[in-house]
Amino acid sequence: MTQKIFIKTFGCQMNEYDSNRIFDTVKKIGFEKTLNYEDANCYLLNTCHIRDKAKEKVYHEIGRLKKIFRNKKKPLVIIAGCVAQAENEEMFKRESYIDLAIGPQSYHKINDMILNYFEDKRRNDETEFDAISKFKYLSKIKNETGKVSAFLTIQEGCDKFCHFCVVPFTRGPEYSRPFSQIIDEAKYLSENGTKEIVLLGQNVNAYQYKKYKLSNLILAIEKISGIERIRYTTSHPNDMTDDLINIYKYSKKLMPLIHLPVQSGSDKILNLMNRKHDISQYMKIFDKLKNINPLIQFSSDFIIGYPGEEEKDFQCTLDLIEKIKFINSFSFIFSPRPGTSAADLRLINRQISMNRLEKVQNQLFNNQFKINKSMENKILNVLVENLTEDKKQIFGRTEYMTSVILDGNEDDIGKILPVKIIKSNRSTLFGVTVDSANQKVA
Ligand code: SF4
Repeated sequence: MTQKIFIKTFGCQMNEYDSNRIFDTVKKIGFEKTLNYEDANCYLLNTCHIRDKAKEKVYHEIGRLKKIFRNKKKPLVIIAGCVAQAENEEMFKRESYIDLAIGPQSYHKINDMILNYFEDKRRNDETEFDAISKFKYLSKIKNETGKVSAFLTIQEGCDKFCHFCVVPFTRGPEYSRPFSQIIDEAKYLSENGTKEIVLLGQNVNAYQYKKYKLSNLILAIEKISGIERIRYTTSHPNDMTDDLINIYKYSKKLMPLIHLPVQSGSDKILNLMNRKHDISQYMKIFDKLKNINPLIQFSSDFIIGYPGEEEKDFQCTLDLIEKIKFINSFSFIFSPRPGTSAADLRLINRQISMNRLEKVQNQLFNNQFKINKSMENKILNVLVENLTEDKKQIFGRTEYMTSVILDGNEDDIGKILPVKIIKSNRSTLFGVTVDSANQKVA
């Protein structure tokens, strides 16, 4: 009988990359992917520990699963990702429906775990920080994503220990993948239709393998024919070194959008968060990059209502948003993560945090709205990624990652088209290809 796996992914792009690699792996022992829960004889949940109630979300999901399979044969249930890493054996104690737990650095062991389970039905967890073996393994399996825009993990883990963050505990210490493995994977992606590569790492700009840094990697990937766009995420301000900044002078394929989390506009709060950078440092990076190319735009992450945040600190965050005019950003109210230094700090009043979040988001959304409006009547290069969900139009992205919807067909997928923007809202642009715009004018 064919084994069918249903994979559900929570969280970041790295989890998405990992889920695809997990599928490339289990294919080797006969699994096919199903998009329908009920068909699955293996259910894998790739979890995220960053957001609130991550653990509870997992048990909630298992509860749903139990209902669906109440009168059917139970599927093999695997919990992967950061919650599995943090909870491991605890999960087995709390939920008998879970069969295997596997941490983010142990995916290369998944086939053995599954085959052993089929043989002896013994529950098992693998949660060692073994990035070296994982990356060695990744170099042997093909990245079959086949997408126009594909993720490529180059680095994992973090040594920075921001006080609010679980990543150093769930992903382990910083480890950079060997340079040649990354280039091989990039070449393979390009041969299979990928036009844009998004380099991933929890601290992607801390990448350092022997003499190679992220800047070297970008220049090497740029030489691969077929690759038209390069992006990287997520960066830390301390690792925005001059060699990386200067790449923006030379690179033809590095996109002019930098996701550089700042978290707060207040030095006091940055210090309490143990971010190890201050606002003047952040502004220097901004100025240097704008001097190189004034069209470079920034996006960021903000934590609102961090313990100790006073009104004047919050005002500094608003001021920074006004200065930088972020093109796009994520903002959340602080919520404590068990096991982190900030877990037991005294929370500020919830209503105050909610009011501040609303103000921040209004300001961010207003910027976004204005920036998108200013794109109307301009011609932008759009990399077409796919058909829209209803299959009636096509969907692509500008150099700044903004979504664009336009008329077109399957043949346009993978092309970079000049598109005249005719309409916009906060999150999306609507346009026509320059050819059809000219026809309409005529
Ligand atoms: S640098 Fe990023 S990943 Fe590392 S601890 Fe801070 S927030 Fe977490």
